[in-house]
Amino acid sequence: MGPSSPVAFVDPRTIVLLTGVMGGLMAVVLFFLRRNYPASVRGLSHWAGGTALLFMAGLTAATRGILPDLFGISVANLLTFSGVYLQYFGSQHFFGLKPRFWPRYAVIVAMTLLSTWFLVADPQYRVRLMISTVVLAWLFSAHARLIHVHGVRSFAYRMAIAVLVCSFLSQVLRLATAWLLPLGTGILDNTPQNLVYVISYPFLMLLTAISLVLMATDRVRAEFEHLASHDSLTNALSRRNLTDICQQELDRCNRHGRMMSVLLIDIDHFKSINDNFGHQAGDQVLVQFVQSVKTLLRSADVIGRIGGEEFVVLLPETPLDVALVVAERIRATVAQSSKPQKITVSIGVTTNRPQNDSVDELMARSDRAMYQAKANGRDQVVRI
Ligand code: GH3
Ligand code: MG
Ligand code: MG
Repeated sequence: MGPSSPVAFVDPRTIVLLTGVMGGLMAVVLFFLRRNYPASVRGLSHWAGGTALLFMAGLTAATRGILPDLFGISVANLLTFSGVYLQYFGSQHFFGLKPRFWPRYAVIVAMTLLSTWFLVADPQYRVRLMISTVVLAWLFSAHARLIHVHGVRSFAYRMAIAVLVCSFLSQVLRLATAWLLPLGTGILDNTPQNLVYVISYPFLMLLTAISLVLMATDRVRAEFEHLASHDSLTNALSRRNLTDICQQELDRCNRHGRMMSVLLIDIDHFKSINDNFGHQAGDQVLVQFVQSVKTLLRSADVIGRIGGEEFVVLLPETPLDVALVVAERIRATVAQSSKPQKITVSIGVTTNRPQNDSVDELMARSDRAMYQAKANGRDQVVRI
């Protein structure tokens, strides 16, 4: 590649250095997120740390030919591997896994040492390149697979997978061209494959960091949506969300002439639990109550909290006789259990009537039925 060739204007050292700087900026963004996002979003510190290592790797690699090779090559390699590994490790935490750091990292350190052997003792660039591409291809593909298995179907996850697959392919391509094209002596040599690599690498690294940021943002959005639509104590649906779902179900029933049932459940003498055992014990009763009701429901059924100790269970596509069975099962299960306290419930049951029934009317009817159960002596099911 002569000096008059147009590609000679692209100086790999500058690109490597710029890549590092971009990594540094993205690391700052990720550290910022780690400070501001809820602690429930795991893995952010590893992502930030990994991206910061890639920043240092860029700076270190740019000293090649200026400082000793052991620094400009071996240390730079170790920093790159560590950064990419730490990003992957962060994603494992992000998905709630508890991976062990050292087994894989020991492999990475061993590969770096092996590569250093082929730098110092038995200089062979092709072998070093092979080691480096294999390690990176392994990490990128493992990371992509992890997100594919654990991620939900949203833009952020798809983008992350796409970028990691491209990163993997770029390593495979680099490995292949090591045998097909003239090799040069290192990453800063002005060979065509080096140029393709050093130009695509910053984009891929930047896009990886951006997709990690998007994944974290996506998680926070999902958590806020959950908070907005669920009761924070019992994790039952919030009143508003429940009403919305009832309305949708009712619309569907009215369109297709189907049946749906509603149970309104009120815990009996709940005030006395608070009075006798304290408010916290009362809270515990509510949490346990919702948990045990959930075990009695089908996956399409939902439970919402509409007041202090008042709950609504919506049973889609369920006629009255089946709803009565469900209600009776709930009543009996609650009455049998004495953990954390002995309680009973009164349940009002109703179903939608053909045409022009509204959610408000359904709720009012089930409320009347529930009060009837209270008036009849509590611990029972009444239908209207
Ligand atoms: P009844 O059998 O007639 O339903 O009697 P009750 O004591 O269950 O009904 P009442 O409406 O008189 O009392 C409800 C109590 O629920 C009063 C309130 O302090 C308590 N409560 C409401 N929300 C919560 C909560 O989130 N936690 C706790 N521990 N108590 C709550
Ligand atoms: Mg009550
Ligand atoms: Mg009540």
